[in-house]
Amino acid sequence: MSVGANAGIVVNDDDVLLVDSHISPAAADALLEDLRTITDKPVRFVANTHWHFDHAHGNQVYPAEVEIISHEASRAAIAAGRSKSGRTYDLFTAGIPDQIAGMEAALDTLADASARSELEAELESLKTYHAQLQEVVPTPPNTTLSERLTLFRGGREIRFLFFGRAHTEGDVVVYLPDDGVLLTGDMLTAGLPYMGDGFVHEWIDTLERLKTLDFEWIIPGHGPPYQDRARIDHLQDYLRDLWNQTVSFHERGQSADEALAAIDLTAHADHFDGITGTGANPAAVRRIYDLLDGTAN
Ligand SMILES: [Zn+2]
Repeated sequence: MSVGANAGIVVNDDDVLLVDSHISPAAADALLEDLRTITDKPVRFVANTHWHFDHAHGNQVYPAEVEIISHEASRAAIAAGRSKSGRTYDLFTAGIPDQIAGMEAALDTLADASARSELEAELESLKTYHAQLQEVVPTPPNTTLSERLTLFRGGREIRFLFFGRAHTEGDVVVYLPDDGVLLTGDMLTAGLPYMGDGFVHEWIDTLERLKTLDFEWIIPGHGPPYQDRARIDHLQDYLRDLWNQTVSFHERGQSADEALAAIDLTAHADHFDGITGTGANPAAVRRIYDLLDGTAN
């Protein structure tokens, strides 16, 4: 089962809050099934940290009385169909039929039994996910905030906070002050976050404001939880460097492709896996060009 992103589960005295709803209705159902091994309390609240499909395409499984909470800009994006169309969605989904065909071809020539069954399982999961894409009806949140919203559930305070644009225009973090836990969506991920819809320069300042919160644990949008706050600084350094280098190529009238070939981010390789060669992500550099050209949405 492909679930896409992390989902946070906050079990309160009488109810449950889920932070992000997974990538498809089937993934959302699987999450609810898993939840029943932890608690039988009802899910009354779901948050969408932002509008990307892997965080919001499980929304449709929830009945109308469940409050689905997001930033008002995320609601607008989902209502406008942006979670199921456009460059980001295509980037992550358009290649799936070819991927399936490639895996099927590989199976034809694979002799080793255990490698076969592993690939068969992967193929099955990808096919299920691909079929699920057709089932998705983007479902906008029914409760929005512009700056902040606080729930008091039994003994727990739950804050939904907008610190500015970052990974998207509507990133909300979920902060549990008494537990010292911060769920960040994709503003922070275990490695380098996807930047194709990001506001790269504003992201740096948004993270600076985020650092004013008192927390012990970060649960990022993807990857395992962590405690090391220095990882926020490392991302800020990377974003600043990427932004500044890209701006200088743009100012010299060079194309995004020329910039991509020349930008050097290897100085950050100690802090982020997978930085090889020039280390710039094509979606990120093209996004910065769009921001500079005023063509980003
Ligand atoms: Zn995202």
